[in-house]
Amino acid sequence: MNREWLEKDFYKELGVSSGASQDEIKKAYRKLARDLHPDKNPGDVKAEERFKAVSEAHAVLSDPEKRTEYDEARRLFASGGFPRGGGFSPGGGYTQGGFNDFNLGDIFGASNAGEGGLGDILGGLFNRGGGGARASSRPRRGSDVETETTLGFREAAQGVTVPLRMTSPSPCTTCHGSGAKPGTSPRVCPHCNGTGVISRNQGAFGFSEPCEDCRGTGSIIDDPCVDCHGTGIQNRTRTITVRIPPGVGDGQRIRLAGQGEAGLRGAPAGDLFVTVHVSQDKVFGRTGDDLTLVLPVSYSELVLGTTVSVPTLEGRVGVKVPAGTADGRTLRVRGRGVPKRSGGAGDLLVTVKVAVPQKLDDNATEALRSYAEAEKLGGFDPRAGWAGA
Ligand SMILES: [Zn+2]
Ligand SMILES: [Zn+2]
Repeated sequence: MNREWLEKDFYKELGVSSGASQDEIKKAYRKLARDLHPDKNPGDVKAEERFKAVSEAHAVLSDPEKRTEYDEARRLFASGGFPRGGGFSPGGGYTQGGFNDFNLGDIFGASNAGEGGLGDILGGLFNRGGGGARASSRPRRGSDVETETTLGFREAAQGVTVPLRMTSPSPCTTCHGSGAKPGTSPRVCPHCNGTGVISRNQGAFGFSEPCEDCRGTGSIIDDPCVDCHGTGIQNRTRTITVRIPPGVGDGQRIRLAGQGEAGLRGAPAGDLFVTVHVSQDKVFGRTGDDLTLVLPVSYSELVLGTTVSVPTLEGRVGVKVPAGTADGRTLRVRGRGVPKRSGGAGDLLVTVKVAVPQKLDDNATEALRSYAEAEKLGGFDPRAGWAGA
């Protein structure tokens, strides 16, 4: 976004030279804003885009301080002073003035602009005087929405598509978000000519404040839509289907771009953030991309060696327990763990654990006794070298 902004030519957007006076900029903007205003060009996406671009250009160039910053940044950028593609690095020297916070959403009054950010410019424009009445129908990026979901262990490991029910503001279906009663449409505010802004000259500087007639919206709704009371927004419960990628961990937060709250008047929607909770599994545990499980074995299986069938996320595999395997040892089965985002999968870690019989029948007891004898005669001492023995 930053880079995009730097690559934009705000002077060209307004059709003025880079040496244009504040007055020339103001005039050029007014004319363009009038011609391109969404209310004058309903449904014209191109005009809407241009309108936004022109508003953005004006927001920067009409503020002498921001204009100076923009000019400087552009000069630096053109001379290679900024890494291309990387945006600004925090603390890299050019973060003051809120350049990092810049995006269109901020311009149109999203609340997340940092102090001194460009959001403040327009926030100031539309809200100066401290009235607190925010322009409710100005194009504004939708808010981000937070939600959470609980997945089964295997679902999280393998990826799953889940329906999420959410209640959030959406464009009113009755008026399609215009806020005007169906059959009518908002008209361009005659006081500000649809710009939403009234400019005043005071001393050396001209400054702007929101139009009082339309409260900065640029348009006047004579017959408000009854279903949304003229806001163009309705609370709607919707179910969206979300694809959770394989390998998400408990507590992880997933961002789904554009799935948040609807934007106002054609502005982009916010993002949806889903915090994922993963329930425990009876068999498997997880360490990063590795799947863990405890395999119960008998003493004789460890001594003699065996091959045991163990479950994986997909089907079962035979795990070879070599003769003489120590209790508690972990055997690795490559590539049978949790799928990785980069492709491939982690490993399955199988830890053997001896199950000791609580009761033996006479035959087994007899056999074990003679085995113990034989073991001793064979010279095996489990505590050889242990504790100073
Ligand atoms: Zn409505
Ligand atoms: Zn007005």
